[in-house]
Amino acid sequence: MLTVAGSDSGGGAGIQADLKTMLALGVHGMSVLTAVTAQNSRGVQGAWPLPAEAVRAQFRSVVDDIGVQAVKTGMLASAELVETVAGLLADVDAPVVCDPVGISKHGDPLLAASARDALRLGLLPLATLATPNLDEVEWLTGVRVSGEPDMRRAADAVLELGPQWVLIKGGHLDGDAVDLLTDGTTERWLRAPRHDNRHTHGTGCTLASAVASGLARGHSVPDAVAAAKEYVTGAIAGGFALGEGIGPVDHGW
Ligand code: PLP
Repeated sequence: MLTVAGSDSGGGAGIQADLKTMLALGVHGMSVLTAVTAQNSRGVQGAWPLPAEAVRAQFRSVVDDIGVQAVKTGMLASAELVETVAGLLADVDAPVVCDPVGISKHGDPLLAASARDALRLGLLPLATLATPNLDEVEWLTGVRVSGEPDMRRAADAVLELGPQWVLIKGGHLDGDAVDLLTDGTTERWLRAPRHDNRHTHGTGCTLASAVASGLARGHSVPDAVAAAKEYVTGAIAGGFALGEGIGPVDHGW
């Protein structure tokens, strides 16, 4: 499985979370690095996108020799990199999980505002599954979700952008962590009890990587998402304090 994402020097999110998830789930992990961040439990202190040429070269190296059974995209940093990645994925015959990463939990930008149209118009139409949280739903579609009843409307709005499936992640609402998975015809609500644990750094990366790991093994989207939800719920339950801020989810359970 291939992750196309940014590095988190603190090891909690990004490429590092993706590779840990793949290791835990028994899938061979490969990575195309899009950006380097200087980051810790307190936030992102700096971010440097790589040249498009470096992204293209990493991708070609992996795909032309090893091959991929599933791809996950995360932090893409700039419009140029979103367009580069979309161009590369257009020729790949493997399911794509697109985590439309916009800003971190600390409010640090991980995607330039000028790249949002490229993501909406260029990348989401190629996605087998998009996994936006509620903030991402809002900047992608303008739909503001303040409760479970709004999630169906949000899902329809994301599906209009072209992914085959969408998983609306409602974890930022109060109460149980409720997500909605739909392809416009079937609909599945996934519910997990809320763990009162603030150490949730890397949750979104972990969930998307777990789904892509299931798809790489040939599982259906609903089966891969259900297993990934279980994995991330366990990882959040085990999230632990490292540094002074928000610690990472746990992959060792
Ligand atoms: N850093 C990188 C490189 C990421 O890809 C992401 C999320 O996708 C984050 C940080 C943010 O992680 P969180 O919002 O879970 O703190």
